[in-house]
Amino acid sequence: MYSIDLSGKVGLVMGVTNQRSLAWSIAQPLTRAGASLVYSYQGERLRPSLEKLTEGEAASLIACDVTDDAQLDDLFAAIEAEHGHLDFVVHALAYAPATTFARPFHHVTREDWRIAMDVSAYSLVAVTHRAARLMPQGGSIVTLSYLAAERVVPHYNMMGVAKAALEASVRYLAYDLGPSNVRVNAISAGPVRTVAARSISGFGDMFSEGGSQSMMKRNITAEEVGRAAFAVLIPEFGGGVTGETIYVDAGFNAIGMFIPPGYPDQRDEPG
Ligand code: NAD
Repeated sequence: MYSIDLSGKVGLVMGVTNQRSLAWSIAQPLTRAGASLVYSYQGERLRPSLEKLTEGEAASLIACDVTDDAQLDDLFAAIEAEHGHLDFVVHALAYAPATTFARPFHHVTREDWRIAMDVSAYSLVAVTHRAARLMPQGGSIVTLSYLAAERVVPHYNMMGVAKAALEASVRYLAYDLGPSNVRVNAISAGPVRTVAARSISGFGDMFSEGGSQSMMKRNITAEEVGRAAFAVLIPEFGGGVTGETIYVDAGFNAIGMFIPPGYPDQRDEPG
């Protein structure tokens, strides 16, 4: 077994709401490998559950609504004061107003567009800009995306457009920061039952259909997202990977035609 020791390494994990959050799944292997983690959370409402989750860990918890530049400045100033540097960032947050999921895409308002883009895409740029300053020896940043960035996924609407902007931002950020040895990547995860996912109308059907139609005929797990992100984050495994969108979706994204009921599945044939 390859053993990784991250003691002395510092990571910022953004977007833990509860134990189902993808940010939490990514934090687990980092914690097990000995990294010191700072968790940022959207608002004070979320602090008690985060305190409970991180009980016994030497982690710091700092509130940061990513739509507020002053809160972002305070977050990175606090990390600098406490640790002096940063090695990893996990950016696992997104938001679009509920109406954007409920109505056809062309109904999107200017304000809903602005909010979704601000929280779900611009925040990665704002975070990376501040984080890179604390990564003089290099570092690694991972964000979370979804296939709706590239293909139409009914109901996803505005969030799909925001994820497209997020994935394009990953490439530009990776280009800017490549010479400084700061890597930026996205993990495009298949559906996982989390608070954010449940707010999308039709998510339940998407979850069961998507799972059965994937190459592996199953959904992925949050732990699989966590381990893939870990591999991308740490230089021992992911050192040469930057500017990428990496799929952790049991192969769903690469299928060109889904098997209709009754259609022969050659994989079931012997030999
Ligand atoms: P989650 O609800 O656990 O996490 C979403 C987080 O976003 C929450 O912690 C919330 O507080 C945070 N957030 C929203 N607005 C914010 C703001 N203004 N400031 C700071 N934080 C804010 O759900 P999740 O599914 O773990 O989502 C994490 C990421 O994974 C999101 O980018 C989501 O789009 C992406 N993703 C999820 C799935 C899935 O099926 N669950 C699939 C692919 C990608």
